[in-house]
Amino acid sequence: MRRALLTLAALLGSAVAVAATPWQQIQHPVSGAPQSIGGFANGCIIGAQALPLDAPAYQVMRQDQRRYYGHPDLIAFIQRLSTQTRQLQLGQVLIGDMGMAAGGRFSSGHASHQTGLDVDIWLQLPKSRWSAQQLLKPQPLDLVAPDDKQVIARHWQPQIDSLIKLAAKDSDVTRIFVNPAIKKQLCADAGSDRAWLHKVRPWFAHRAHMHVRLRCPAGSLECEDQPPPLPGDGCGAELESWFLPKKPGSTPPVKKAPPPLPPSCQALLDNHRL
Ligand SMILES: [Zn+2]
Repeated sequence: MRRALLTLAALLGSAVAVAATPWQQIQHPVSGAPQSIGGFANGCIIGAQALPLDAPAYQVMRQDQRRYYGHPDLIAFIQRLSTQTRQLQLGQVLIGDMGMAAGGRFSSGHASHQTGLDVDIWLQLPKSRWSAQQLLKPQPLDLVAPDDKQVIARHWQPQIDSLIKLAAKDSDVTRIFVNPAIKKQLCADAGSDRAWLHKVRPWFAHRAHMHVRLRCPAGSLECEDQPPPLPGDGCGAELESWFLPKKPGSTPPVKKAPPPLPPSCQALLDNHRL
């Protein structure tokens, strides 16, 4: 019986590993003119660049995961945002997951981040640089109260507001995902300058980081943009709906089997296996 269980475990383990690895086995960007291909949750990237790991205005966490690749537009965005943050003396920007060398699906953690146009940026801005050890095992700062209805006042800093606003005002950014309680705080803090708020979308989790997504780059002809967010600041009924008592079926979307890859991404994988 015990042997049977072990065998089953081994089988399951290998099945999971096979499903998880094709993109993770690609260690280096695929050479070619930069091209984001497919959708954010089903795509890949040719000609990705690595985010420079040594920079004065930001630090890259969990470098051992090698999830610091992206389209050159994403690299430029991170550098632009960090430079602005530094000029305003808001603190050090902490960069989390971007994408893998050729994009594609992760084994865990994300459905998106597949086309080199998504980055997780933490919502804390340390005044001094983190040590290598802190970067390797970073401690997230949960900004949302246990009741999920508001941010924790002592963790919420005006600098966080400024960081999200700077990112949202960047013309390459189409969407930023944050916890509904964080969006609520941004809505409350914003004065008459509110046009940027429509890019900031309430979503599950995202209590310690924001997920920033760029529009499809010029020249990425097979890249699929999402429809733009609805007009308005998104601070009204739509946001309120997140705080209503939970209805059945209002839990995070269940992960479905991945759809077939875009043909160009499948070709890229097939070539890599040769
Ligand atoms: Zn993310």
